[in-house]
Amino acid sequence: MTQDDSTLEPPSEGPTPSVRDENNRHLLGELRYNSVQNVLVSGIFVIFFAQHSGSTMLWTWWSGFAVLVAVRAGVLRWMEVAQPVNEPMCSKAIYACIGATALAWGFAPLACVPSHSEMSFILAVSWVSIVVLGGAGAFQDDPIATAVLALPATLPSIVILLANQDRTSYVVVAALGLIYAHLAIGVVRARRARAIELQLKDENANLMAEYQSQARLASAEIERRLHMERELRAARHRAERLSSLDGLTGIANRRYFDEQLESELARTFRAQKPVGLVLMDVDCFKQYNDTLGHGAGDDCLAEIGKILAGYARRSGDLAARYGGEEFVLLLPESDLAAALGIAESVRMSIIERAIPHPASEVAAVVTASFGVASLTPGAEHTARQLVEAADRALYQAKNAGRNRVESAA
Ligand code: GH3
Ligand code: MG
Ligand code: MG
Repeated sequence: MTQDDSTLEPPSEGPTPSVRDENNRHLLGELRYNSVQNVLVSGIFVIFFAQHSGSTMLWTWWSGFAVLVAVRAGVLRWMEVAQPVNEPMCSKAIYACIGATALAWGFAPLACVPSHSEMSFILAVSWVSIVVLGGAGAFQDDPIATAVLALPATLPSIVILLANQDRTSYVVVAALGLIYAHLAIGVVRARRARAIELQLKDENANLMAEYQSQARLASAEIERRLHMERELRAARHRAERLSSLDGLTGIANRRYFDEQLESELARTFRAQKPVGLVLMDVDCFKQYNDTLGHGAGDDCLAEIGKILAGYARRSGDLAARYGGEEFVLLLPESDLAAALGIAESVRMSIIERAIPHPASEVAAVVTASFGVASLTPGAEHTARQLVEAADRALYQAKNAGRNRVESAA
């Protein structure tokens, strides 16, 4: 035994189902070819000994033996395909098949007895013993299989030999004893090696199952994290979109407008195109709130936001709430005339929407004042300058009586 072997003790409480399964499959595999060998070897035996004995007995024995082997082959095949091979019952059935054939072999030399030739009987016993004990080598790692093969095949003849009480018979029995001892040592060694091999196989299978389950868990975890990442990205996207919108009107908020104005100025500076800006302030809105309530004021602002958004028609156009009741319309690539035209259209649309304003100093409906500016950006221009220009124009519109459009001078 090696150092490593000492740590691997064979299982103490009978074989596990998987070990039994492996063992039985091994036995069934051996027996598959063993059936053909049995018929051939017994045929040669009968032909050889037929001249020494009453041939009727030997041929009768051989016919019975052939039938037995055929039945056994059928039973083994049925077990192989239709039975759970790891059941204890299966092991017992396999041992019974081996034992039945061995017992039949055990009676073969007795079929030679009618020849009344002691030598012929001893020869037959030796012949059968060599065949059977040689065959036992196939089952060496299974002591039960070896025992149920070796003992029934030789015991009947040994009993007769011992009953003879002559020297030749004793020598044959002693020789058989030696062969038995050799077989027993081989069985012990092979059994130990096989048990360790099967145990290792079992452990490997367990390790592999454990590894596969870990791998499955890991891939489920990766999938879960990827899913979470996708969810997070979508949530961030939603949050970004929401943070660029004004909560009351649903159009862009001041923060987003500031970003867009900067980038449009940079773009139009490179393209040397004008940028138009319309700043709009609802007239007398404080009175509107005071008269109709803050809730109605909110609804009114939402309505005006919608009207303004309808005029952000081209790509790059942007309608935004600038703060309070002030709105802004960014119009890239619009010169002053175009921006003034659009501001006038918005003003008319608000009037046409005819939101009643009982407390307005300007009209019976809600109106707004507009300050318009446009410039073709140069390196010296800033976003702030454009907004301030529009704001100045808006101030003029307010001063000039409200509900009108003015442009920066
Ligand atoms: P002007 O014609 O000169 O613009 O007069 P105004 O009353 O419109 O301007 P002022 O700056 O005096 O008042 C603006 C009002 O707008 C005051 C404020 O309560 C109201 N306001 C600002 N934001 C909101 C809002 O989100 N909802 C409501 N309902 N009112 C708001
Ligand atoms: Mg205002
Ligand atoms: Mg106002």
